Amino acid sequence: MSLNHGIPSLAIPGPSVMPPRVLAAMSNQMPNIYEGGLVDISNDILSRLPGIARTSGHPFMVISNGHGAWLMAIANTLSRGDKILVLESGRFAIGWGEMGVVSGLEMEILPGTMTDPIDPAALEARLAADTDHEIQAILCVQTDTATSVRNDIGALRAAIDSAGHPALFMVDCIASMGCEPFEMDEWGVDVTVAASQKGMMVPPGLGFCWANDKALARYEHADLHNTYVDWQARLDADAHYELYAGTPPISHLYALKEALDIIDEEGGIEAVWDRHTKLAGAVRAAVEAWATPDGFSFNITDPAARSNAVTTILTGSIDADHLRDVCERETGLTLGLGIGGLGNAFRIGHMGHLNPPALLGTLATVEAALVAMGAPMGGSGVAAAAAEIAKHLTV
Ligand SMILES: *Cc1c(COP(=O)(O)O)cnc(C)c1O
Repeated sequence: MSLNHGIPSLAIPGPSVMPPRVLAAMSNQMPNIYEGGLVDISNDILSRLPGIARTSGHPFMVISNGHGAWLMAIANTLSRGDKILVLESGRFAIGWGEMGVVSGLEMEILPGTMTDPIDPAALEARLAADTDHEIQAILCVQTDTATSVRNDIGALRAAIDSAGHPALFMVDCIASMGCEPFEMDEWGVDVTVAASQKGMMVPPGLGFCWANDKALARYEHADLHNTYVDWQARLDADAHYELYAGTPPISHLYALKEALDIIDEEGGIEAVWDRHTKLAGAVRAAVEAWATPDGFSFNITDPAARSNAVTTILTGSIDADHLRDVCERETGLTLGLGIGGLGNAFRIGHMGHLNPPALLGTLATVEAALVAMGAPMGGSGVAAAAAEIAKHLTV
């Protein structure tokens, strides 16, 4: 007999826990898709999305997961034979680049590590050497979900500017949008990519791109166009369904409107970032307390480069898969598995619809499993996390 009863708990880095209001909104019956309320909702969403990415650029939606948003970014801006520079950072940026290779792009990888953020100086040096400006686009992630690094997007833009390089700067914020401060215009990002199921609090199925004028201007010269993800068709749309290359993702639009309302009610995107920063601080306090030479440690060495959306924990001599299994089987808590060849590791997702009781429950359950397993542990992560949360409570 296990204690695994009641509401199961999910702490993986996407899909995240959905607000009940979002799920309820998805149960609305199918409406008129040509005019009326749904069209209003769709237009309302398009008017609010730029504020989420902090841009005056144009937002686009596609019925897809994050991979579909990757494809949209590539297909509207690049041509067969174009060279892309992928800034290696864990696992996901290279996956995006490999998709470009299948589309006919030539990929060069700026090598990175599994433990550190992308080095802006290395980017600047590579771009300075590209005197003929062969590199058409630079692809990177803000947060890599395997390593849980947060890259400094503003510093990478500064490196591009120092090298005086005209390449498009394209940033994958799939794990970080709605979790991590992100300033598309201020940081000179030309194309931003995200998806619905992580910080955006909507089930998987909607991909997003935001494009500034420089990115939109590349459209004309791009030859990878594809109707399903086409920007111009969406800009020219005079029928509502043309915004989605067919029938709109009705239930997802209802859900997204609800999620955007929830963000507004919290006090806007800055308040959401602030909550993520504080909750992530509690996770980091717990890991720091648990840490011990033969047990837990942070995968990301520099504290300033640790993500506010996900934390990857190396577990040393502790069998991470066993730990996850104990948590899931015995308590109903699902943790993220370690990916990207990190060895013994697991991940805690702390993105989206999350509050202290849910987070502290996750951390306390991990600690209970550690104790039950007789695993090496420095001190109480729960006490440290509670003390961290306490700093932010108004009494
Ligand atoms: C989750 C994720 C992806 C992939 O998104 P899918 O919806 O699974 O296609 C890509 N990049 C990053 C940084 C992610 O976190």
